[in-house]
This record gives sequence, structure tokens and C-alpha cells, in this order.
Amino acid sequence: MLRTHTCGELRIQDVGKKVVLAGWVDRIRDLGGVKFIMLRDRYGLTQVVLSSDNHADLRRESVVQVEGVVRERPKETINKDLATGEVEVVAEKIIVLSSPLKDLPFYPGETKLPSEDVRLKYRYIDLRRKEAMDKIIIRHKVAQAVRNYLTSQGFVEVETPFLTKSTPEGARDFLVPSRLKPGTFYALPQSPQLFKQLLMVSGLDRYFQIVRCFRDEDLRADRQPEFTQIDIEMSFNTREDVLQVTENMLKFVFKQVLDVELPDKLDHLTYDYCMNTYGSDKPDRRIGMEFKDVSDCFMESEYHVISNVLAQNGVIKGFTLKNFSEKMTRKLADELDELAKSLGLGGILWFAVDQNNVLRGSALRYLEKNYKTVVEKLSMQPKDVFIFAVGKNNIVNSTLGEIRKLLGERFFSHLKTGFDIFWVIDFPMFEYSEEENRFVAQHHPFTMPNLEDLEKYRDSDLSKIRAQSYDIVINGFEVGSGSVRIHNAELQREVFKLMQLSEDEIKVKFGFLLEAFQYGAPPHGGIALGLDRLVAIICDVSSIRDVIAFPKTSSGVCPLTGAPDVVSERQLKELKIKLGGD
Ligand code: ASP
Repeated sequence: MLRTHTCGELRIQDVGKKVVLAGWVDRIRDLGGVKFIMLRDRYGLTQVVLSSDNHADLRRESVVQVEGVVRERPKETINKDLATGEVEVVAEKIIVLSSPLKDLPFYPGETKLPSEDVRLKYRYIDLRRKEAMDKIIIRHKVAQAVRNYLTSQGFVEVETPFLTKSTPEGARDFLVPSRLKPGTFYALPQSPQLFKQLLMVSGLDRYFQIVRCFRDEDLRADRQPEFTQIDIEMSFNTREDVLQVTENMLKFVFKQVLDVELPDKLDHLTYDYCMNTYGSDKPDRRIGMEFKDVSDCFMESEYHVISNVLAQNGVIKGFTLKNFSEKMTRKLADELDELAKSLGLGGILWFAVDQNNVLRGSALRYLEKNYKTVVEKLSMQPKDVFIFAVGKNNIVNSTLGEIRKLLGERFFSHLKTGFDIFWVIDFPMFEYSEEENRFVAQHHPFTMPNLEDLEKYRDSDLSKIRAQSYDIVINGFEVGSGSVRIHNAELQREVFKLMQLSEDEIKVKFGFLLEAFQYGAPPHGGIALGLDRLVAIICDVSSIRDVIAFPKTSSGVCPLTGAPDVVSERQLKELKIKLGGD
């Protein structure tokens, strides 16, 4: 090795030792008689002292090897913020291994950083920053803990193909043209879903893989076209077994990586409960603001707007904001009203209970008689605000859900500490796609429906059929989803048909799966968790780009390599591809 110690290693006990360090020159301080350099590597920083007669050509970010003796720093120069801060190395010899040929676009030791685009273009410099590199190391620890836990439970890691056929997870495929079979394409996997199910048919029994998945979606703020899943599948299990394994794995990871104990038993909330209480299937419960139905307080309302809605099975629902009346300005009220209108409601109503119990708010005229019952029902205190909406239950839920999210982000982020982790179960099996004019699977079509619901509603209302699926939610993010699967060819065929897939489509797309199910398939089920999001939550950062070594921007571009890029005529010719104009 070119070094005897790392730059994060030397302590007071090492005083007197002759050592060799190697790393980057983070900073240089020239005091005339002596020079101090801060030498940096992945492990930390060590101060090196050079006498002025050393003429090595040192610049910031030069890579150097230093031979010298460890000595105790004078009392007044001890740096308590640095693990090596009690010592310094007096250099006897310094060799410059490589020197920057020009100024760096930015310096990792500086507090003021350039824009993310610049940092991603020079990600190898960005990663020289400890805070940036630490997240990549935590990612490794999470992946390692996952591997260790699952292996201890008998799971086997198996690689599945990247050059494959489309798997329907609801996104667009990335296609790879085949040179040997011109005119045909592989699809990069949106997930290993079908392969992991085939592994269950093969008898592997317990599979996992930390695997890259590819989805060509219009990128929303924090999506990546390639991302990593912790993919799990097991046989002869109930839904509870998958939830238990996943819970235990997460407990192990949080303990190993953060030394945090997750709750012993995680809550199981139904999809309906979440939508009715938070207007979201992945609520962050740390900010409170649960919805309360106050329809009963308005049963005798004289106002047509209200009585009409109630007569048509509508609802009056809202949430209380504690001690919020001063923040509930006209401007904010108008903003929320606009938001509600853009989401399909007539608007939003609100009132504040003032110091002297005098009401203030847009709801006043509807409240003359009902005011006291609402305040009592909600046990409102002076300065509390109640924000509510009137209308069809699902629109009221989703609108209040967005308002809750907005207010949560703007006013209550201080409540977002610790980990709020729970299961959401009993999602609908199908949802109606206006775009495709048919029902599509809410999770994916391999999900086992609730069989009683299927019996009851297969001919009348598909939206009422629940699925044997589940999501794990952490801090308002859907970190994983999965389901018990169909393992019977006939039922699988029926589900495809309910989604209006033709015999031909079924055969071409899923013939191999249906065939496999004819040769003896065990009951099975599984889940996939997003590793990027899980690590981002563990690192307490909002963007998954921070926990990916070489991420793409939100427009799917890699600023470092310039991908995606044009290719040569020759490559296109070999693939028999002609580029068309617009
Ligand atoms: N393949 C599914 C997904 O990517 C997860 C699963 O059902 O296991 O969302």
C-alpha cells in the first residue's frame, strides 16, 4: 500500500509513530515559516505540517503521499470537530502523485456549492465531499443488511434477465433493438415480476434480488428512469407471512444502519380508511390533520348547497388546525380555495374559533345555527381553524388530501421527525382508465383478487373488488408494494379478460406464464421495495439523486456522460434502423 494509515485514523496514542498517508490536498495555509495542509481521503482529514524549505508543488486537490511523524498539536490548536484533531503529521517527505492541470470547476472543501447540474457533471468531484460520499456508503450498508437478513431467512439471490420482454407495471418500456433479429426488440425489465413468479414455479421457494428496474416515464420531480428495487418472492405463504418477513427485514436494517428500533408491530390500515382519513394512500401521519365527517351537524341546514349535497349522499368533511387562526390569512384562504377549485370542488370553507369565541372565516354564512355543534363535536379551542369541503366523498377526500399536504409542507415540517411506518392493505384490484377506456389493474394483473369480492362483483362493478395487495409506507412515501399472486391459469386468464385483453394479446404477452401455471404452481406472493427511497429516508434527504452514485437529472439526462446521445450511422445500419424526421 502507498500508505500506512488513512486520513481519518490517527489519534493521540499514535504520537511518535512514523506514518505514511496519501490523499487529496483539501486546503493549504501558508504561514511563511511553515505550511499546514489538510490531507483528505474517504475516511477523514489529517493536518500535515511542512517546513518552508519543502518546495513540493502543492495545489488544492493535488494527490500526494506524505511520510512523517505524528505529534501532539499544541493545546490552542486542537480541533475538537475533527476525529484526528488532537494530532498532526510533521512531514519528512512529500511526493506529488498527481496534480490538477487546471482549476477545478468547484472545490469539495468549500461550503458554497454550485448548482446540482454542475455537481452532477463533475460527480466524481462532488463525491469527494464527505456528506455526499457518506450517503453512498450508507446505501451500501442498507443493501448489505438486506442481503444478510434475507440470506439468514433462507432467501436466495438470483439474477434475472435485463434483455427481456415487456412486463406490465404500467409504465413505458425502454427498448433495445436486436441486431441478430432485425426488426425485433428486447424490453428492459420494469421489474423482474414474471421471472420471480417463474422461480416460484421452479420450486426455489424464497427469492430475492437487489435489482435495477427501468421505466420510461415522463419524469416527475424525483423519479429516475433506472432505479433499484429490493425484490422479494416466497411460496406457500399467506399475506401475513410476506408482511412479517418485510417488517423484520426493515427492523433489522434500521437497527443495523441507524441503531433505531422500529415499532414492534406495524399498523395495518385499509386503503379505504387512508383515503377517508387522510385523502391519500400514503399519508404522513406525523402531521396529524385527520379528516372528520361533520355531515350530521348539517342535517337540518337551510342552505340548498349543503342540503342538496347531503341528499345525494355527499359529505361535509374537514380537519382542524390547532392554534392556526393567525396564520390563516386571507391570502392563504384564497390560495386553498383556488387549489380546491382546480381539483374539481366548488371551493373550500373554513372558520376560526377566535379568542372570544367570535367566528371568522368563509364558512360563516352557513354556520349560524350549526356553529356550536361543529365546535363541540371537534372539541375546538380558541385559535383553532377548521377547514372543510362539501361534495362527493372521493373528491372531498382527494382535495382535502392535497390541501393537507400543502399545509403540512409549509407549516408543519417541524412535526416531521422520527419514522412513521405502516402497512396499507386492501387496495382496489382494478381502476378505471379514462385514457384506455377500460379497467386496468391497480397494482398489476398478477395480483390475487379478494375471492369473495370477485364472486360478488365480477359481473356488476369491478371497482368494488379488493386485491390481496399491500404497500409499506414510510414518512409519506410508498416505499414498497406487493401482493399475493394468482397461481392458477384459469383465474389469471379471467383477470386478463376482465381487463379486456384479447385472447391474442394474452397469448402473445403472457402465454409463457399461463403455460407455466399449467405444470404445477405453488401459492406464492411477494413485494418490491424501492432501495433509493428507503436510503433517502434513512439519510434524511428529500431527493433520491443524493443517494445514487451517478443519477440522471429530472429530464432523464446524465450530465456527466451526456447520455442519451446520438449513435453512429454504422451502428444504426447494423441494427437496420433508419431515423425518421418529424
Ligand atoms: N413487481 C412489483 C412492482 O414493481 C412489486 C411486486 O408486486 O412484487 O411494483
